[in-house]
Amino acid sequence: MKIGLFGGTFDPVHLGHIALARAAREQCKLQKILFVPAAVPPHKQSQPLSSFIHRYAMLALATADEKAFIPSLIEAQPEEAGARKTQPKPNYSVETVRRFKRTLKPGDQLFFLIGIDAFAEIATWHEPEELLRECEFVVAGRPGYSLADVANALPASLRPRAEVTKPFHKHPATGDLVLPGVTIHLLGDLRQPASATAIRQAVSAGKSLGRFLDPHVADYIRKTGLYKSAT
Ligand code: ATP
Repeated sequence: MKIGLFGGTFDPVHLGHIALARAAREQCKLQKILFVPAAVPPHKQSQPLSSFIHRYAMLALATADEKAFIPSLIEAQPEEAGARKTQPKPNYSVETVRRFKRTLKPGDQLFFLIGIDAFAEIATWHEPEELLRECEFVVAGRPGYSLADVANALPASLRPRAEVTKPFHKHPATGDLVLPGVTIHLLGDLRQPASATAIRQAVSAGKSLGRFLDPHVADYIRKTGLYKSAT
């Protein structure tokens, strides 16, 4: 089975995330996609984050109608389940991927789903080379990003030489990038400009939020008063 792992903060999950998962499912023929909310995202530790439970609940609502989309608890911290209070440890993707791979059956194939803005930072992640070699990547483009940006975001040891990537500066990020030990499938621009930051700001300013959200998620945000005090 071809399985996608889609990590993020999902604060909240929006139609851009769903568009990415749908495009990855089509292009890579994925049979199952796990949406993995990070309990403690390593790159967002300085900013306030809604509780894991709220973010997971919104994911459950947004994925309810898609059989292949499954909200995952793989990065839930023990204290989220009320078991014990300990200092939270950041969720490193490489560890999540390794842990998840141990549950796979022979013949299963894993794909790591990610947007190009997050991929652009991949070299700063924990053990980036190892992560890139653990499974194939599916990267969704955004306007203004080229194929060369994808290649140049790779850690130095995996990055093609500058002469190789130069001609691709104006080439949109589509197709497959196959390098020794690393395969990246590029989804192109999804034309879905939703942004969780913009949604939180809109709610905080009392503006409408429906356009970029699943209606059940929008209702959940209204009912719970989430993001009312966001700045
Ligand atoms: P924030 O604005 O809080 O940073 P975000 O939606 O950009 O939120 P995450 O929830 O962590 O951030 O996103 C999870 C993944 O979804 C990331 O890989 C990100 O690049 C991707 N993503 C986010 N928004 C879009 C979008 N509109 N189109 C395609 N991919 C997206």
